Amino acid sequence: MIDAYALSEAALGDLLVELGQPRYRSKQIRAWLYEKGAASFQEMTDLPKGLRDVLEAKVALGTITVDTEQVSRDGTRKRLYKLHDGQLVEAVLMAYDDGRRTACISSQAGCGMGCTFCATGQMGFARQLTSTEIFEQAALFARELQASGERLSNIVMMGMGEPFANYDAVIEAVRRINRELGVGARHITISTVGLVPKIRQLVDEGIQVTLAVSLHAATDEERSKIMPVNRRYPLAELIAACHDYVERGGRRVTFEWALIAGKNDTPEVAERLGKLLRGLQCHVNLIPLNPTPGYGEKPSSDADARRFVEILAEHGVAATVRVRRGIDIAAGCGQLKSAVLAKKGG
Ligand code: SAH
Ligand code: SF4
Repeated sequence: MIDAYALSEAALGDLLVELGQPRYRSKQIRAWLYEKGAASFQEMTDLPKGLRDVLEAKVALGTITVDTEQVSRDGTRKRLYKLHDGQLVEAVLMAYDDGRRTACISSQAGCGMGCTFCATGQMGFARQLTSTEIFEQAALFARELQASGERLSNIVMMGMGEPFANYDAVIEAVRRINRELGVGARHITISTVGLVPKIRQLVDEGIQVTLAVSLHAATDEERSKIMPVNRRYPLAELIAACHDYVERGGRRVTFEWALIAGKNDTPEVAERLGKLLRGLQCHVNLIPLNPTPGYGEKPSSDADARRFVEILAEHGVAATVRVRRGIDIAAGCGQLKSAVLAKKGG
């Protein structure tokens, strides 16, 4: 089967001409797919019935399917998407009181970066996702939200995988999410473990997405212990690339910091982080560590988290402690790990 979501407007036009149809129907079909969120060709009522039947037989609306879905007490939905070859990736939808609907999607099946505190890192790398597979995770959420009168407003590339280790596919998917699903570039966040050359490539791309960098430690020694990537791209190079992003893109950079009790939440660490980020236009998102099977440490207390924020503020660095979402269904940051691997004990 051909995948409708993998066809450009021109390619869809060619297919229609082959089927003896006028090319303009490609516009009609794309409006159904991307503006109206149709879930089947039969819903496309301005197409002749015969064409709808032919398309239904020849063209699939997506190659990924929802395998299972869990709903958290806080309304967060975590789902397992099954890819055409049976690979599984997880994606999460979060609803906020201010109306935002944020999808957290995956860029790879598994991840090869080996961060010790992360469930995805603990399971290892399976394969790259194609740009269409990345796009479709968002498109399926968009289409379901549309059906209930809501709109997908934000995307975070914070699911399974390291987006910059699959750079081209991620950028292509991001462009399509922006163009075809109408999610503003500024409302799309790419989170990276810190692949410095790719941060620089993003700057050259001239695309207005938000960059988030996972930091978690303020010295090379500490960071290398929990994030092996730091041995290749140490902090000085990483922070220099962030300065470039801010100066050339004119936007602030976001840092992510999982607060680990007694490890990276002390006043001394806050002081060091404050000095490291001083003068950089940025915002620090503090996320109390989410528990994962392979990492024994604990999240920080509220009091320690607050003190951390205060010390950063003394250095002119803005920080917010994030509310953890979907913890009861293991949908929080760093908890994603496909269920089948979990069953295998991976
Ligand atoms: N690979 C990318 C994006 C996916 S991870 C990256 O690492 O940035 C999304 C975020 O969750 C990252 O900031 C990551 O460092 C963080 N994270 C991983 N494990 C976590 C955990 N156990 N608790 C809290 N945050 C975690
Ligand atoms: Fe990969 Fe990000 Fe997890 Fe590190 S934190 S292992 S880069 S998904």
